[in-house]
Amino acid sequence: MSMIEIENLSAFYGKAQALRNVSLRVEPGETIAIVGANGAGKSTLLDSIMGLVKNTGTIRMEGQDVTGAKPGDMVRRGVGYAPERFNLFPHMTVRDNLLVGAYTAREDIDKNMDAVHRLFPRLAEREGQETSTQSGGERQMVSLGRALMTSPRILLVDEPTIGLAPKVCVEIAEVLRRLSAEMGLTVIVTEQNANFALSLASRLYVLEGGHVTAEGTAVELAKDDQLAKSYFGA
Ligand code: ATP
Repeated sequence: MSMIEIENLSAFYGKAQALRNVSLRVEPGETIAIVGANGAGKSTLLDSIMGLVKNTGTIRMEGQDVTGAKPGDMVRRGVGYAPERFNLFPHMTVRDNLLVGAYTAREDIDKNMDAVHRLFPRLAEREGQETSTQSGGERQMVSLGRALMTSPRILLVDEPTIGLAPKVCVEIAEVLRRLSAEMGLTVIVTEQNANFALSLASRLYVLEGGHVTAEGTAVELAKDDQLAKSYFGA
């Protein structure tokens, strides 16, 4: 049974259609990537899964119909979300921002905080620092950490490398790999950086103008010359 299965998802902002009949699936423990340019609809797709934007179509989680479920329902079902641009509270400390994620999983606070500190030792060292004074990479870590405080089984990560130095991107990739390998998490990651996506995901979906135009493993996608040129620099 798929962890998440989406059929014919469409989403609108007023009259503008941001997603067109998107279908995709992710299996338990799998990492998939949604690759696309600015405005392709990546954030809208993750927001739709979380119940943050109106959409039509069907979303199933572990076989159950969760179409139209509210964000709080999705968090309680085990979906963690690290959105683009983080949405951290800038004048709160690292620790307090992490605790914001903990309100649905209070009994697991200590265990989850330990796991976050093991993944991101720098956050343990900087517990009392206001996030407004952190680097982009550190804020991305807090955002991922906050999502992990909800005790998720599936993590949605929106463009984690945006604006980050290559060295920090490598660090973020390593953490996402560990979440999958050591903690068995299912991951959906969106990216403009196709090489980052390739380094992580077993399968990729290419999103263009709100529509899935290609899907498959890296090897399958590389056979399409045009696609390889556009997204994978080869
Ligand atoms: P980016 O990498 O730039 O964030 P994206 O692939 O995540 O791009 P979305 O943010 O999902 O793309 O946007 C998809 C389309 O929907 C774009 O045309 C965008 O302008 C539009 N859109 C997104 N949010 C809104 C909104 N709140 N109101 C109106 N239109 C929106």
